[in-house]
Amino acid sequence: MTTLISACSVFNGEHGRAPMDQQTIITLDLEGVLVPEIWVAFAERTGIPELRRTTRDEPDYDLLMRGRLALLEQHGLRLPDIQEVIGSLSPLEGAELFLDSLRASCQVVILSDTFEEFAMPLMAQLGWPALFCHRMEVAADGRIVDYKLRQPDQKRRAVEAFQSLNYRVHAAGDSFNDTSMLLAADRGFFFHAPDNVKAQFPQLPAFDRYEELKAALLGW
Ligand SMILES: [Mg+2]
Repeated sequence: MTTLISACSVFNGEHGRAPMDQQTIITLDLEGVLVPEIWVAFAERTGIPELRRTTRDEPDYDLLMRGRLALLEQHGLRLPDIQEVIGSLSPLEGAELFLDSLRASCQVVILSDTFEEFAMPLMAQLGWPALFCHRMEVAADGRIVDYKLRQPDQKRRAVEAFQSLNYRVHAAGDSFNDTSMLLAADRGFFFHAPDNVKAQFPQLPAFDRYEELKAALLGW
């Protein structure tokens, strides 16, 4: 008799392990894990070095975003300018294969503090995975006038929501804005994290290669 392998087949014996009694969802950060830092790429293209600051440098996300919006205003840059740059970016090398191989075994949800308006060109290249993120408030002339967080600390709250649905959650991210997600998850891992971030959370295992991260996320 053939056994139908359901979500997260690796936990259902595909690799000779005893079946676990709980299904697993994997949650991944986007920028720095699957795609380049969008704002860094934009800073390079526009020659505005102040736009290079990311969540790796500034743990206060609101402070970071207010600074970014002020710089856009100051330099007269609008949403189409940013979208043009994003449209020219590619996922990190190996990211599509990594994501596809995870999705063959588990449900995967991307939890990102980016915005729908920014993410779409990259989601298309990644085969439209599930993405939970935020939205921009854009004026008719394309100026970004504000940003709207769907909810504060959304990454952690998504993890807790999945756990309330009786899923085990394994998570990976690279930065300060991932740590509440990584700590709330049943297993949390850093990927491509800089030393200053890793140093503050020595309890979280850190990886730099997709094969290693995949093995950790799938519990091999
Ligand atoms: Mg990131």
